[in-house]
Amino acid sequence: MNHSARWSNVLLSPDRTESYLDYARGWEKRIGSFLELSPPVPASPPRGDLAGIPFAVKDNIAVEGFNLTCGSKMLAGLKSPYTATAVRRLQEAGALVVGKTNLDEFGMGSSTDTSALARTSNPWDTSLVAGGSSGGSAAAVAAGIVPFALGSDTGGSIRQPAAFCGIYGLKPTYGAVSRYGLVAYASSLEGIGVVAESVGFARRVFEVIRGIDPLDHSSVEYLPSGQTPPRPRLGVVRGLAGLSGEIERAYRRAADLARGLGMEVSEVDLKTFDYVVPAYYTIATAEASANLARFNGIRYGLRPEGTENPEQLVKGARNRGFGDEVKLRILLGTYVLRSGFQDRYYVRAQKIRTAIRNDLQALFGAVDLLLLPVFPTAAFKHGEAGLTPFQQKLADRFTVTANLAGIPALSFPMGSEAGAPLGLQLLAPAFEEERLFRAAESFAEAVPLEHPPGYSEEWRS
Ligand code: GLN
Repeated sequence: MNHSARWSNVLLSPDRTESYLDYARGWEKRIGSFLELSPPVPASPPRGDLAGIPFAVKDNIAVEGFNLTCGSKMLAGLKSPYTATAVRRLQEAGALVVGKTNLDEFGMGSSTDTSALARTSNPWDTSLVAGGSSGGSAAAVAAGIVPFALGSDTGGSIRQPAAFCGIYGLKPTYGAVSRYGLVAYASSLEGIGVVAESVGFARRVFEVIRGIDPLDHSSVEYLPSGQTPPRPRLGVVRGLAGLSGEIERAYRRAADLARGLGMEVSEVDLKTFDYVVPAYYTIATAEASANLARFNGIRYGLRPEGTENPEQLVKGARNRGFGDEVKLRILLGTYVLRSGFQDRYYVRAQKIRTAIRNDLQALFGAVDLLLLPVFPTAAFKHGEAGLTPFQQKLADRFTVTANLAGIPALSFPMGSEAGAPLGLQLLAPAFEEERLFRAAESFAEAVPLEHPPGYSEEWRS
């Protein structure tokens, strides 16, 4: 289905931009998805495949002329002097950046509540989190402010907020999309991807942003097999423990639906499953401790006044600039990398990572796609009534597998229960994104997309 026509002229004149802003601001009072919202009024009608279509960008991805805060006091007020390759490719296709969206500080979290700059809520129910770390991007799409937004996924940060907000979220194959312009958290695990209101938008955006980039040496040429099995074999995982009732029901319902849609469904085991969270947090924090060392108060952002020597300056900047979650992770990463102890933590985690890759490679000999929950529960509540930071980390067990293995995964909506949307994800071998899109399109025909109360398309007509 092609919704782009209804989006392509929303910013074509000052009064259209006014009604755009009215709708967006109405939502923003309740959900706070943007850190910066300033839609352009293009001087001449844009051209290209995505001409005139508005989109939003997570605030850890650079767009020239916009802020680049990463949700951190460390970088509050920083303007980006350059544009990420993925954003530039979308702009060249005619799409228009309308603003920068909120996130967990430096992408560290699962709720967007670790942002030091704003609070984002779920458009379905503002007592719930939007998920994270790309919570602002997902909330803005679910509310109908933009048809798609860019996010980043290091361990689930695109798929989990997409699931919490009832939309689509694609984490591409590692290296398929250039990371140039993405502020690094854990470079070997992460990439830029997209949250979208439809499979059609997710696919089109992915086609535009992917491909090798001389500015990112880990980017690769996109070479899919070109074969998409018409009747895919779908693996469902045996004996998944700890799911909430509604996610368990959604998982079973999807497996039944898949059979009805002509897929060949079989039960599979993931042998390495118990090790993914410790391996992920060892590698992610180790890389974070190295990547975040550049924020020292000298080159970028926050610079404390009145310090007497460089040591005080660096200490003061980090102390005041970073929030607790970021500090915790830098300390953990420094701990796992400390001299004499690498064998015990970092090297072991890398060995587990290899075992996970091998496990999945074997599995993809027997099935074409793997179906998993995204998160053990639907969106949880803000604050004390929700999940603790430690519980959130344990709950990353379904998402981090794809990051450790470098394979693509797409979360898709599966209806709602008690006013909160439900989402599941499909995983495929590297470069087989098209398999994910096709399967999600089949599910979409059977499960109608639901919108949060207050969602409207009228202002677009
Ligand atoms: N919840 C995960 C974490 O906190 C995911 C983060 C991400 O993908 N950026 O690390």
